[in-house]
Amino acid sequence: MKRNRQTKIVGTLGPASSTKDMIRKLFDAGVDVFRLNFSHGSHEDHAERIRFIREIAAETGKPIGVIGDLQGPKLRVGKFKGGKIDLSTGMKLRFDLDTAEGDEKRVNLPHPEVIHALNVDDHILLDDGKVRVRVLNKGKDFLEVEIETGAKLSNNKGFNVPGVILPIEALTEKDKIDLEAAIGMGVDWIAQSFVQKPDDVILAKNLIEGRAKLMIKLEKPSALDYLHEMIAIADGVMLARGDLGVEIPPENVPSVQKRVVKAVRYAGKPVVVATQMLESMIENARPTRAEASDVATAVYDGTDAVMLSAETAAGEYPIEAVTIMDRICHVTEHDPLYRLIMEANHPESSDDVGDAITVAADQVAKTVHATCITTFTSSGSTTLRAARHRPSMPILCLTTSEQVANQLCMSYGVHAAHVEYVKDFKEAVAAGIKCAKEQKMAKPGDRLVITAGVPFGMPGTTNNLRVADVE
Ligand code: PGA
Ligand code: MN
Repeated sequence: MKRNRQTKIVGTLGPASSTKDMIRKLFDAGVDVFRLNFSHGSHEDHAERIRFIREIAAETGKPIGVIGDLQGPKLRVGKFKGGKIDLSTGMKLRFDLDTAEGDEKRVNLPHPEVIHALNVDDHILLDDGKVRVRVLNKGKDFLEVEIETGAKLSNNKGFNVPGVILPIEALTEKDKIDLEAAIGMGVDWIAQSFVQKPDDVILAKNLIEGRAKLMIKLEKPSALDYLHEMIAIADGVMLARGDLGVEIPPENVPSVQKRVVKAVRYAGKPVVVATQMLESMIENARPTRAEASDVATAVYDGTDAVMLSAETAAGEYPIEAVTIMDRICHVTEHDPLYRLIMEANHPESSDDVGDAITVAADQVAKTVHATCITTFTSSGSTTLRAARHRPSMPILCLTTSEQVANQLCMSYGVHAAHVEYVKDFKEAVAAGIKCAKEQKMAKPGDRLVITAGVPFGMPGTTNNLRVADVE
């Protein structure tokens, strides 16, 4: 099945989308990559969902990507006696290490290292920024704070400390267990939450040992300070605007989005814009105009993928949300202005042969009106190089690795197919034409541009370019 858009859709699974029938409907409506959120649900839930996804991929003959998203070191306050407390400006509250249920005077904060790292006058945001407090006093095992804004605080709400690099483990014990479980289930990608510095990314890479690709989630301001170093280590980036938008002022989110999308794209790695894209569709069958515009903006920015979270995981209109997202991407990509923006923002290429071939392929494909750019890849690198240029035609990616095909579902314009091994470029051309016809990417009379690295099986050696006529 061929999508009629280049931008990809990531859809999160949850209680509203856990049956095989529902997952199939989401796939048919346009989800290219499913996200399993390890902050919620049991390992059994995730294992069952991934089994359904693999069955659907086998039934449809189309690769489907799966990303296992680790919760990460998300800080939370403890519980209250009545489930919540009322707050008023100027009120004082104490965060301490006592695990007893809290009240109007005190509540548990089960993170001694955070108490240690914060100082008088530091600000803390709770419940996605709805509550803001300032540190008045600190002791060895408590913080005394003053409420600046906020009306109530309930059990286990999130605790953010913008601008402070916290001396906490980048992956919790839960994350390490979830990571192994996710890889055991056969996920194609792991998402790492709340990365703060390059060492955090190296830690996850070392645990994954090449068994999946690693996507880092930018949701801490310090991650933006190390953006380029971290992009270089990771395999992809998610702009996690939910938590990031609490940690940095909301007015800074749009420019950060533009900067991050451009930097990740130029590095030739997939970038996902995530969170609250069609938030009102959790309850309504239609999005607001502002939400439609937000999805389109991410597309105009040149993102690889846009993501749905609660809209598909727990909302009342999961299918409608994917359907409208698909349409917004399609319509935006067909705006002549969109093409102009993509053409005006070509990434620079190095003097590397693979880069030169890829730039040429993009040009030649336009000049000869090729219906697709066909790439052969063992590691994915030839295809990622092509996607980096945001060509106007789809990129047919032929690979012998099922996992590489699944991983490339995250990337702009890539239509991946799994093929048998080809021994030389002549065989590759024949296989490319055959596959393009089978996949309805070309018909007799059409032209293809084909790129590959020969000898095959050596990653990063893109060195051949051919225009082929389809007969
Ligand atoms: P989450 O990450 O859904 O795991 O919180 C996304 C975000 O923070 O935007
Ligand atoms: Mn988050």
